[in-house]
Amino acid sequence: MSTEIFIDRGDITTLKVDAIVNAANASLLGGSGVDGAIHRAAGRELLAECRTLGGCSTGQAKMTQGYALPAKFIIHTVGPRWRGGTHEEPKLLASCYTSSLQLAVANGVKSIAFPAISCGVYGYPIEQAARVAISATREFLKCDNSLEKIIFTCFDDRVYRAYLDAERTDDRTDR
Ligand code: ADP
Repeated sequence: MSTEIFIDRGDITTLKVDAIVNAANASLLGGSGVDGAIHRAAGRELLAECRTLGGCSTGQAKMTQGYALPAKFIIHTVGPRWRGGTHEEPKLLASCYTSSLQLAVANGVKSIAFPAISCGVYGYPIEQAARVAISATREFLKCDNSLEKIIFTCFDDRVYRAYLDAERTDDRTDR
């Protein structure tokens, strides 16, 4: 089996996949952007479960139920804040993708959707973040292809174009 990668425009809270990834903050207690949208759509029970998790470090991931979402699980990962690129931001962002994918596989997830982690309030340059997302995911897939489907959900056109470009560039450097 090989894993299919999709780059789609849309709202991640509406996707009927096994797991969606949340670009959370370290408290895991909700925030703005996609985090706020996920908490609103999942309902209050999500916050109750998040309170039991004791937060999450940057680059790591923790999982909860999806509650009122169409997705069964939510994988909460904490992206790095952009601080000029010299504070291990690429490594930490890559780790968000790898940790989330590992957690997904360990829990039998077959389909997973990611938002553009760190590309909103955390200020990561979108083109660079998209390249990290694609290359970290492809690196992971070299060793594990038990997932059936990975979706990069792009909330706006700029993110969508950046992912399409990153995929093309990564294709060329792979050969
Ligand atoms: P961060 O704090 O990690 O930067 P944000 O939530 O501020 O996270 O932004 C991350 C990305 O998620 C941005 O590209 C933003 O446009 C996008 N986003 C916001 N809402 C949604 C949503 N409902 N579905 C998918 N992506 C979303």
